[in-house]
Amino acid sequence: SSWWSGVQMGPPDAILGVTEAFKKDTNPKKINLGVGAYRDDNGKPYVLPSVQKAEEIMAKKALDKEYAPISGPSDFCKLSIQLALGDDCEELKAGANATVQGISGTGSLRVGCAFLASFFPGPKDLYLPSPSWGNHTPIGKHAGLNVKSYKYYDPKTCGLDFQGALDDIAKIPERSVILLHACAHNPTGVDPTPEQWQELSALIKKKNLFPFFDMAYQGFASGSVDRDAFAVRQFIKDGHQIALAQSYAKNMGLYGERAGAFSLITSSKEEADRTLSQLKILIRPMYSNPPIHGARVVTTILSTPELRAEWLRDVKQMADRIISVRSSLRNNLEKLGSKKNWQHITDQIGMFCFTGMNAEQSTRLSTDFSIYLTKDGRISMAGVTSKNVEYLAHGIHEVTK
Ligand code: PMP
Repeated sequence: SSWWSGVQMGPPDAILGVTEAFKKDTNPKKINLGVGAYRDDNGKPYVLPSVQKAEEIMAKKALDKEYAPISGPSDFCKLSIQLALGDDCEELKAGANATVQGISGTGSLRVGCAFLASFFPGPKDLYLPSPSWGNHTPIGKHAGLNVKSYKYYDPKTCGLDFQGALDDIAKIPERSVILLHACAHNPTGVDPTPEQWQELSALIKKKNLFPFFDMAYQGFASGSVDRDAFAVRQFIKDGHQIALAQSYAKNMGLYGERAGAFSLITSSKEEADRTLSQLKILIRPMYSNPPIHGARVVTTILSTPELRAEWLRDVKQMADRIISVRSSLRNNLEKLGSKKNWQHITDQIGMFCFTGMNAEQSTRLSTDFSIYLTKDGRISMAGVTSKNVEYLAHGIHEVTK
């Protein structure tokens, strides 16, 4: 018999399954709201003009294809952590950061979890918000961490369960790891306010928890990279030694290029050197060194002042389109006379909207209206355009009557 006769068929990926069903549908009005990638107002994938220009500059240089260092190019790492923490961060000026290029956000989280699994001195328990991005649990488990959760989302308000979060976090055993979405929480689109972040920071400090930030959408939420970094920078100001995973998939549209970074903010340069040496030892047997093209695009953009300014405009344009289709969807639902409160559509932020539709309503939207989404009622606002928003509102209104 075969070596693999005992291997069972695994379940399909929940989100990729949505796209499969969408592709098979022949209705010209069909909409795919499962996609986690930005689309322009014509529903087409979007390459940022600033990225195109960076690639033109790179092409003229006829760069070689040598290996990157294990931790990625040092200028890429430096520019990345500066983007997150800002130019006047004392810790960065002191060199108290260990930063490596990761394989986009996912790989950065994975390397971070591997480091925690080997070196974290407290319980190897990773607390995720409930719900969280579907990949957080397998990433944590695969690295050998115990994955647990704390209250985050309130289905009654389609908003933050702030008291629930505070109560649950207060119960987490000291010295555990807590994962926080820096901005544009996926899948809910629900973020704490600046004041709520300050309170969370104080509580996490008091409980002596280790904050691990996942920042997959810097700039993509509000349109400002600085505003979206508020939470991360507040925690640094409050004296937390954070871990941070960054991704350039969304804010530079570099999805398939796999450019991201993992950082530890440490107590000194000397500690940064020690932790960096161990990060490299972990990375070497996993994939040796990261891909070069995306990192070069990022470095070119962030280090060329005019290109950086243009990129900041590109990110804002994407964020603004998302914000505007949120208003438009809400307005259309209200115009249709929906009795439901849809304020959460515009209160939520980022790529995703947790509509509050249940599994049955979400399924009906697919079967009766050819509008495809995950069963949890999450829609990708990137799939909504000025052309399909009316039809989408009509479908949502019909299934939520
Ligand atoms: N974290 C969150 C919360 C995300 O939504 C995503 C993208 N869906 C990622 C991390 C990582 O994405 P990537 O590996 O493509 O950068």
